[in-house]
Order: sequence, then structure tokens, then C-alpha cells
Amino acid sequence: MLNLATRDQAVIWHPFTQMQTAPLPTPIVRGAGSVLYGADGREYLDMIASWWVNLHGHANPYIAQRVSEQLNTLEHVIFADFTHQPAVELAERLLAILPAGQAKVFYSDNGSTAVEVALKMAFQYWYNLGQPRQKVIALEGAYHGDTFGAMAVSGRSAFTAPFTPFLFDVEYLPVPVPGQEEAVLRQARDLFTTDVAAFIAEPLVQGAGGMVMYEPAILDELFQMARQQGSLLIADEVMTGFGRTGRLFASDYLTEKPDLMCLSKGITGGTMAMGVTTCTQPIYEAFLSTEKIKTLFHGHSYTANPLACSAALASMDLTLSDDTRANIDRISQQHAGFVSRLTTQSGVGNIRQRGTLLAFDLLGEGGTSYFNGIRDRAYAFLLDRGVLMRPLGNVLYLMPPYCTTNEQLQYTYTQIEALLTHLAETATD
Ligand SMILES: *Cc1c(COP(=O)(O)O)cnc(C)c1O
Repeated sequence: MLNLATRDQAVIWHPFTQMQTAPLPTPIVRGAGSVLYGADGREYLDMIASWWVNLHGHANPYIAQRVSEQLNTLEHVIFADFTHQPAVELAERLLAILPAGQAKVFYSDNGSTAVEVALKMAFQYWYNLGQPRQKVIALEGAYHGDTFGAMAVSGRSAFTAPFTPFLFDVEYLPVPVPGQEEAVLRQARDLFTTDVAAFIAEPLVQGAGGMVMYEPAILDELFQMARQQGSLLIADEVMTGFGRTGRLFASDYLTEKPDLMCLSKGITGGTMAMGVTTCTQPIYEAFLSTEKIKTLFHGHSYTANPLACSAALASMDLTLSDDTRANIDRISQQHAGFVSRLTTQSGVGNIRQRGTLLAFDLLGEGGTSYFNGIRDRAYAFLLDRGVLMRPLGNVLYLMPPYCTTNEQLQYTYTQIEALLTHLAETATD
């Protein structure tokens, strides 16, 4: 019988993958904690939390137990006109921990749909009020997902080029990275007008855009400025939510709280697909009417799937535990220690950290493009040594599950140092 990778290649089209040149995929047979076990007996340290979803380790026994109980009780039920315990409990518990002002929970099934729903809520909010606003402001280089609305508010790049004619217009502000704050504020004064429906941002860390980080104070100023013109504020916390930035939500660093929030990825601890959009009471109330026409006509077949809700409830128990709190602080400290080691290294620039997220640029040939060669070499070098990191262009980053041990972190740091030495030795110019 052919091996799994060859059978895969015959029938499967992988995400974000150039199928003609991609190497055969690596079959994984099992996961435990931060380790993935390959079919060939090799082990991989999952330092990117399997595309940013995993919080408490793979095949977490507590989450597995809770999902399995739910699976034997109620696997799914239509969520229009019906409800169930895990959905209600999850909404109650989410609202209790989200930043002040969030009042209602709308379920969907991934990060992109969580963003689509937030945008539709924002546009229809103004429509229902009879004061339609059509302008959206987003940050350059943002990533909000791969569906059309989410793509439209994401930064325009080679990824979105084939679709540009089909994307609605969005006005962009540069990211207010340290040193650029004043310039961005000046632009914002012109952009934030009374016809802006919504301002959407990934608070404090832009993920797919290259782990670009900026300070809470400047986002507070931008949020304030937008709010003064009546615009709705959308915080896309699909990646930053559930402890990643050191606090439960990146918005917890802000004084000015969002009107709408998008959650997904870590919400189930990385076990199941789930998306959540939350909003404030005034937004919700703009849809209340005796006229059916004001309804939010949006829903997905697997809305509030009970298994996903159970996984999210179990993950929340773990996330809110003292152990996880301590682990998040521990990883942040380990990272900080590595930052001081990195600063003495050549070939590294723009080192940045927020909580459990650590990123830096690999300097050298090829510039910063996602398509550049240094990326492929770094990826292969680390994978060869059992460390799964997937650089974003020349940006190398760490996003470990919270159960990752100090030994696993130190092993990873050492391999990164070996990579830097290797790149310096093999530099062509
Ligand atoms: C990943 C991501 C999304 C899209 O989520 P999917 O579940 O992949 O559709 C949206 N926003 C941000 C900030 C993300 O990191």
C-alpha cells in the first residue's frame, strides 16, 4: 500500500500551498502536550500552536473527556428556534470575562466568519438606524481572514490580487508601530469622518501580516478618535484572544473598549472549529423591531455546535486556572530571557515580544517578502531539528502552547541560535 503522503498528494489540495513545488506533507499520527508524533517516528515541537489554535497541548485529556461526554449526549441541533446548555453557559461565561460592554454572543464556525458577522452587524446597524454609513477603516497589512468580506478589510497583497475587483473599498491607515505614532495620528484625523461605519483592527499584534506589534496607548487614541465620529470599533482578537498577549484579551490593555469583538482559533483550545462575534447592547438593539426586515439574516449550519461549545467550556476552565496563568507568565519570562540573548546576535532585527508571542526579522538576502528564500531555508533547518516553526516571510516567531516546558523552550531557542549561525556561515554576500 502506498504511504499516506503519496495518497494525500493524489487527492488533496492543501491550504496556502503551491501544490506543484510543495514537498510531500508530513503525516502526523498522534499529539501530546506540545509534541506532534510523525508516522516515521520523528517528533516535532509545535512552536506555532498548529496555526495558532492550540492553547493547552494536543489531545488534552480534560478537553477530550468533556467533548466525549457531550458527543454521547447531544452532538448537534439546529440553533434557530432551539438552544442547549453548552451554548448558553459558554455565552454567559464569555461575557463575564470579555472587556466591559460586550452584551450578546453570536456563534459561527471560524475566524473569517466571525469577521464577516462583525462587518455585517456594523453595516446593518447603520442601515437599520436609517443613517447608512459605508466607509470602513482598516490597518495596512492587516489579516482578517480569507472570505470576501474578511479579505476586503485585510491589507491588499499578492494573496488578494486576483480578487481585488470584487472587494469593497476600504481606507487604510499605516500600522502605528513605535516611532510612527504621530504620523499615523495625522492621517487618522483626515480619515475618521462621520461617514465611517467601522474601524477594524487586530489589537496590539497583527498576526499573519508578520507579527507586527504596536502599543496600547496609540490604539486607544485611534479608537477614541473614531468613536468621536460615531464609528463602531471592531477588535479582531481571533489570534490575540485567550491569553496570547499575556492578558486574557489584547483589548484588556486598552482603556477604550471595542464595540464588536471577533474570537476563534484558541477559543476551543484548538480542538474544534468555532467562531464567535460579540457586540454591545446598543448594536443588538438596533436589530430589534416588529419588522422582520431589521433581522440579522446570517447563520451557519454548525452554529453553536454543542461539541465545539463543550470544548470551549473545557478550554476556558483550563485557561482561567492558576496553572495556566502561571504558565503564561513563565513562557513570557523565558521569552524575555531569550530576547536578551538575541540582541547580541547578528543577522537579527526588530526583536519584539508581547506575552507568549515573540518575533524577530531574519536579516540578509532577499528582503522581507513572504516568498523569499531565507524563509524556506529557516523552515527546513528548524523542522530538521524537530522544531515546527513556519516563518512569515523573513519573520520568525514563537507561539507555543501554554503547557510547553522550559526545557522545550530552551531547546527551541538553542536551535534558533544554531539557525542564525548557519545562515551567517552560508550567506552569499
Ligand atoms: C486566522 C485569523 C483570522 C481567520 O480565521 P480562520 O479561522 O482561519 O478563518 C481572522 N483574523 C485574525 C486576526 C486571524 O489571525
